[in-house]
Amino acid sequence: MKKIGLTGGIGSGKTTVAAMLAEAGFRVVDADKIAREIMEPGSPVLAKVAEEFGHDVLKVDGSLDRAELARRAFADKGATQQLNAITHPAIRSESHRQFIQAEADGVAVSVYDMPLLIELGLNKDMDLTVVVDVAAEERVKRLVSSRGLDEADARARIKQQIGDDARKAAADWIIDNNGPLEELAPQVKRLIDAVKTGEAFQ
Ligand code: ATP
Repeated sequence: MKKIGLTGGIGSGKTTVAAMLAEAGFRVVDADKIAREIMEPGSPVLAKVAEEFGHDVLKVDGSLDRAELARRAFADKGATQQLNAITHPAIRSESHRQFIQAEADGVAVSVYDMPLLIELGLNKDMDLTVVVDVAAEERVKRLVSSRGLDEADARARIKQQIGDDARKAAADWIIDNNGPLEELAPQVKRLIDAVKTGEAFQ
């Protein structure tokens, strides 16, 4: 089974591209979705997070108060690392499980939709690294207009990630999503065709 790593900065269009790849029949392992699922009420990961960051990170119904956790965990680097030390291994092992499942299901191509693919060096485990590229300023605009994010928050999140040049340098294949959505689909189609013929892996 071939593995494609799909990454890009926050708001670059990874989810949009992943949906197109899923439609083409590729299996998508969605790291963001896994990250949410491992924090569901009653999960051991959530219990550990509450133990380390205080039970105030839980709402009365036992679910995660994301805003409160963000306040505590993103306050400084040490706290962020402490949170990552709990969540990253769980995300890694569930992702691994889903790849094994895909292989067992006879899937020919699977896609790892992973925002931190390059930051965590996971691109080395992929047969192809695809980067969805959009200038940071345009991403801020999209995050504010279509996602309702506060502008300062959008900029702070972008700052926490690897720079666009470093991300592109690690790419085997770049999708330019600076233009309108109509320009995205044909590029994704080119990728799909190149994956199907095997040309993308050469
Ligand atoms: P995140 O890192 O937050 O998960 P993402 O990389 O998955 O984001 P998307 O959710 O796919 O990005 O896209 C971010 C927003 O920008 C969405 O609202 C999406 O509909 C919109 N968007 C994606 N591509 C374009 C485009 N070419 N033009 C305008 N808006 C776009």
